Amino acid sequence: MTQIDEKLEPILTEVLRRNAGEVEFHQAVCEVLGSLGRVVAKHPDYLDDALIERICEPERQIIFRVPWVDDKGHVQINRGFRVQFNSALGPYKGGIRFHPSVNLGIIKFLGFEQTFKNALTGMPIGGGKGGSDFNPRGRSDGEIMRFCQSFMTELHRHIGEYTDVPAGDIGVGGREIGYMFGQYKRLTNRYEAGVLTGKGLVYGGSRARKEATGYGAVYFVERMLATKGTDFAGKRVVVSGSGNVAIYTMEKILSFGGIVVACSDSSGYVVDESGIDLDLVKEIKEVRRERISEYARLKGTGAHYIEGGSIWDVACDVAMPSATQNELTGKDARTLVKNGVIAVGEGANMPSTPDAVHIFQEAGVLFAPGKAANAGGVATSALEMQQNASRDSWTFEQTEERLAMIMRSIHDICAETAEEYGATGDYVLGANIAGFVRVAEAMRALGLI
Ligand code: NDP
Repeated sequence: MTQIDEKLEPILTEVLRRNAGEVEFHQAVCEVLGSLGRVVAKHPDYLDDALIERICEPERQIIFRVPWVDDKGHVQINRGFRVQFNSALGPYKGGIRFHPSVNLGIIKFLGFEQTFKNALTGMPIGGGKGGSDFNPRGRSDGEIMRFCQSFMTELHRHIGEYTDVPAGDIGVGGREIGYMFGQYKRLTNRYEAGVLTGKGLVYGGSRARKEATGYGAVYFVERMLATKGTDFAGKRVVVSGSGNVAIYTMEKILSFGGIVVACSDSSGYVVDESGIDLDLVKEIKEVRRERISEYARLKGTGAHYIEGGSIWDVACDVAMPSATQNELTGKDARTLVKNGVIAVGEGANMPSTPDAVHIFQEAGVLFAPGKAANAGGVATSALEMQQNASRDSWTFEQTEERLAMIMRSIHDICAETAEEYGATGDYVLGANIAGFVRVAEAMRALGLI
């Protein structure tokens, strides 16, 4: 359990009381408050005017009914959410998740994390998150479209280029963003390109946005490895998941000379000692939309598939959890440490449990928390907004160069902040404090908000 400074304990107690049962939200708040003890010791004025209490309370939470008709003509009902967490730095910004596990607590944890992540990018964006308990798996294209249209029929009245700018997340990629943008355009009669990011290239999307979260996470880890005089070349890497973040994490690792030996989906994982064939993964996941088990069947010799189990049993030098929250437990962390892992970079949001983080840090493993390491996606979304606002479109190289620069700067601000607060090498502390200070300063400047 994270140690909380006694001055911050009453704040946590109140958050737990008024958000009963929202375990992921509790976990995220606990982790951030766990880093703030050193801040309030140095600057006790952050305890004034209930500033920290206000940061833990979303500005607005919207829950709505999403009715739609499936291919058999049956009416289905899902629940939609949008949590507009903090707009001190800019319009709310954060993805939309479609997954059966989605509930208010999960969206609140993601919105809370997003607020600090967005602050770390140094761009003018606040924090928000949304989603639905809709399960896209096995649904036809027509069903996905009708669901997205119904979801946007309600959501459109709460978003806008200057208000709240959603993007993709688990279960929401380019196809879903396209359907939602189309519906927004019909309902408002405005071609307001900057209202959603992650759009297709033909209608206002940014080059390198699809790749940005994965590429960014690898840039962050590369810079973290450089502090120890090493890099990805020749390293064995395990990447969990096989969705958007995982695929482009693998792509950048390969270009840096690393060898990805395993990846997964929620059913199991594949190991390929000769190195995962990324083109095959893309074909299975992006084109055919099938299970990762197909990889072993199509690849034949050399690759094998393990149903269930833990991908973290596969020995590696670098681990990049890129699937979902709490997918890497204390037990997994002990196995990774025993097998000699030297760095962990979180592509997903909060994929490591608190005890896993503790085990990595105690063992001296370089650990990059999601809110810093996966910020490249939202940073490039902000670049997409910039291109939309100026009616411009940048080249891939231009955009990737900005992404790489932003990731280096996020790495450095985390490292410098950790050092300033007497915790050299603690990227969790550095990210939490640096993100918090930016949001807190903006909130103070804006009066009682
Ligand atoms: P995708 O839907 O593209 O891929 C998700 C992957 O994770 C799939 O392989 C999926 O397997 C697996 N997965 C999902 N849920 C679970 C689960 N409960 N247990 C095990 N595996 C699971 O999502 P993204 O790649 O976009 O997102 C992955 C993570 O990265 C999330 O934590 C997201 O919040 C975070 N993130 C994403 C950003 C983005 O730009 N997309 C930006 C920053 C963070 P299956 O297909 O079997 O469900």
